[in-house]
Amino acid sequence: MNPFAYTRTVTADQAIHTVTAEPGAAFFAGGTTLLDLMKLDVMTPEELVDINSVPLADVRLHNDTVRIGALAG
Ligand SMILES: Cc1cc2nc3c(=O)[nH]c(=O)nc-3n(C[C@H](O)[C@H](O)[C@H](O)COP(=O)(O)OP(=O)(O)OC[C@H]3O[C@@H](n4cnc5c(N)ncnc54)[C@H](O)[C@@H]3O)c2cc1C
Repeated sequence: MNPFAYTRTVTADQAIHTVTAEPGAAFFAGGTTLLDLMKLDVMTPEELVDINSVPLADVRLHNDTVRIGALAG
């Protein structure tokens, strides 16, 4: 596994800004897929941007639309 930086973000804006500003950065959610691919050197992100503290786990009904957060489980 290659060395990488780790950043924990607490807002969606901060997470998006961090990933888009750094071409080698990747969102880190549960890590179930990403960590296995990193161990195999299939994915080699230079920075993991942890989004687990970002409030994205809700499921909301907005008019006729259901919005499912990226961390809803
Ligand atoms: C043992 C095992 C069994 C599994 N069984 C199933 C199954 O039955 N069905 C199934 O569908 N999947 C299954 N999976 C796959 C796994 O559950 C999915 O890939 C899961 O969605 C990964 O989520 P994660 O939060 O761990 O993502 P991570 O591993 O943290 O990230 C995976 C990828 O998504 C990107 N990413 C993460 N969050 C975001 C975001 N909010 N926005 C944009 N990009 C993002 C990451 O940068 C990375 O490239 C299994 C995996 C394992 C290890």
